[in-house]
Amino acid sequence: MTKEINQNNNVFQTEPVLSAEEVLDSSVQYLKGVGPKRAAALLKCGVRTVWDAINYFPYRHEDRREIIHIRDVKNGEFVTVYGLVDTIASKKTRSRKIIVQVSIKDASGYIYGVWFNQRWMKDKFKKGQKVLFSGKAQVTPFLQISNPSVEILPDDFFPEDYEGTLIPIYRLTEEINALAMRKVIHAALSRGLSFIEEYLPEKVLKQFSIMPLREAYKIIHSFDYPAEKLTEQNIAIARRRIVIDEFFVIAMGLLMKRRRTEQLPYKIHHKKPGELVKKFIKSLDFTLTDAQKKVTREISDDLVRNKPMNRLLQGDVGSGKTIVALIAMLIAVDGGYQAALMAPTEVLARQHYKTIRNQLSGTEVDVKILTGSTKAKAKRDIRADISEGKPEIIIGTHALIQTGVEMPKLGLAVIDEQHKFGVMQRNQLRGEAEQIDVLVMTATPIPRSLALTVYGDLSISTIDEMPKGRIPIKTYVIRPERLARVWEFIRKQVNAGRQAYIVYPLIDESDKLPLKPAVAMYKKLKEEIFPELTVGLVHGRVKADEKETVMNSFREGKTDILVSTTVIEVGIDVPNATVMVIEEAHRFGLAQLHQLRGRIGRGGETSYCVLVNNDKDDRLVQGKNKIPLQQELIETTSNSRLAIMSETNDGFRIAEEDLKIRGPGEFFGIEQTGLPALKIADLIGDEEELRLSRHIADTLYQYRDTLKSETRKKIRCRLQRAFGKTIRGVDAG
Ligand code: ADP
Ligand code: MG
Repeated sequence: MTKEINQNNNVFQTEPVLSAEEVLDSSVQYLKGVGPKRAAALLKCGVRTVWDAINYFPYRHEDRREIIHIRDVKNGEFVTVYGLVDTIASKKTRSRKIIVQVSIKDASGYIYGVWFNQRWMKDKFKKGQKVLFSGKAQVTPFLQISNPSVEILPDDFFPEDYEGTLIPIYRLTEEINALAMRKVIHAALSRGLSFIEEYLPEKVLKQFSIMPLREAYKIIHSFDYPAEKLTEQNIAIARRRIVIDEFFVIAMGLLMKRRRTEQLPYKIHHKKPGELVKKFIKSLDFTLTDAQKKVTREISDDLVRNKPMNRLLQGDVGSGKTIVALIAMLIAVDGGYQAALMAPTEVLARQHYKTIRNQLSGTEVDVKILTGSTKAKAKRDIRADISEGKPEIIIGTHALIQTGVEMPKLGLAVIDEQHKFGVMQRNQLRGEAEQIDVLVMTATPIPRSLALTVYGDLSISTIDEMPKGRIPIKTYVIRPERLARVWEFIRKQVNAGRQAYIVYPLIDESDKLPLKPAVAMYKKLKEEIFPELTVGLVHGRVKADEKETVMNSFREGKTDILVSTTVIEVGIDVPNATVMVIEEAHRFGLAQLHQLRGRIGRGGETSYCVLVNNDKDDRLVQGKNKIPLQQELIETTSNSRLAIMSETNDGFRIAEEDLKIRGPGEFFGIEQTGLPALKIADLIGDEEELRLSRHIADTLYQYRDTLKSETRKKIRCRLQRAFGKTIRGVDAG
């Protein structure tokens, strides 16, 4: 009896009410048609939760509004055809590529789908299966589509029932085909879309013609939306909405972080640049460039103001940022404060320490260094000194932050090569208790659009001029067969009193890729190629003090050639070094190549950078990307990165090209910055939306008191989704 009542009750029991979080953060595994296996495959696409699936955006849409008869297919047209699988074959070409050919037929004829080097495509088909092929048709003389999009259809499919539309095309893996991916995303939308709230006020949507969020998701995924309304134009409007969503979240997140920091007390009073600074500038054996003077003024004005400085100092490699930072630190010290300079690596921290101590030798200013490898006792002593609050300059690696050194009189933190730290962690130095002045230096010039996003909360100073007398570096791309000439060239340069770097990507054979290991090559260079010269070696596994000995010897000109891995990438400054050979250059990213190259061209002599292109697949296309080099070294390359490097020394241009090639996430390691990754927005193409989003964020923040509490809550939820719980909403002030 009781049992029966219970059962009856169940009839009226609705599903338990779940929160948006519970639904959106639940694993895709529990969606209809997805089990553990498919969930694992989806994870490879970065899709773990319902929210991830909803935000897995197509990279393009394909026009499948119409299925045409195979007979009517014309050369060069984009078509969708329907047929039954007839033949399935694979063969090897002369160049040992695998070609898979699958023919389908309808009542009017045959067409082939062709895939290169995708052996597994063969196993995707069965004879008699119903499929759609879409893509660009070619007549070769057989009718074919290379790399068609494939839709494997259920057996009960009839072309008459086909409701053609613009189909979102997603990135797929071997385990998930197009249809399966669409099903997962649609299941995620059915489950989760109603939990995604529009957080922008009606008025804002109207004023800027922004599509409501849910509608945008429906359109972009062609989900539950009238097929005839799925036009290119609507898709563009929907995409714009989601781009604005991504940018808005970042803009608002940074704004709130900034405002929150601004509420912390700021008690620092820097003095105007005084005698100490003036004397120091006079003592330099060069005069500051106009650009250096300009940014120095921007910084000192900022320091003196009764508000904390949050400034980014950017300038190309070698443009002289360090001196500017040093002047800023002297202003702090002169006013009785401590100043800290943090470097991303130990080598760089030591280098800064040396140069700064030298440059300050004529002054009374105390400089200390504290890094991970400082001995325990010394560390204790230094810490004890620092904690007394004496005005001085403290240089270190990020160990300085992590171990929470007590710096009671810290007035200025300079963070060098900022991208290794992450924008969201800037204030950790003072345990987020008080505000201090912060100067961030970056040698990766940041394209304006990226600066607006990632550094939206920083003022920017740019050194856009190189010190006078710098001679542009000449860059050559060569094949490894030509290295003998390069060695000869190095010999000549060394005989003329110069020094050289030779850089290898990896340390030894235990690394996975079969690259020329630095250690083995070091031996060869030292014993066979340059027996009469002094050759040194540094890499990541060399101990700190040994590293220092080697670097010193090179700095002092006692070592002619320095063989290294990329540990020399940042900040090393040896003006007498005029040659840099980078082996396996095709494996390096543009930013890295530019950083490496920045180690030369720092003195009064012409410098030469030789990029060795060991890429066997890089067929030398005659005339294409031809590189203007010395007559004997003329080479060409199909590698666009190497070609760009040989064309320009301009870090800003290189950064923009890099951003184009790699996309923003990879370019900057956006994950490292603590900001949510951009999934659909394009920092270069969507700059207008970026500005609009920032404007909306600024305005909503400014007038947050006039917003409905409902709206504020929704904005907070959206931000928490992106940044986690640590972010508070506009409603929390
Ligand atoms: P960055 O940190 O921007 O890569 P650095 O500050 O290391 O550049 O400066 C590179 C080199 O140029 C250093 O040897 C520095 O002493 C020198 N330098 C800096 N400013 C000038 C200048 N105005 N004129 C001549 N040399 C300069
Ligand atoms: Mg530097």
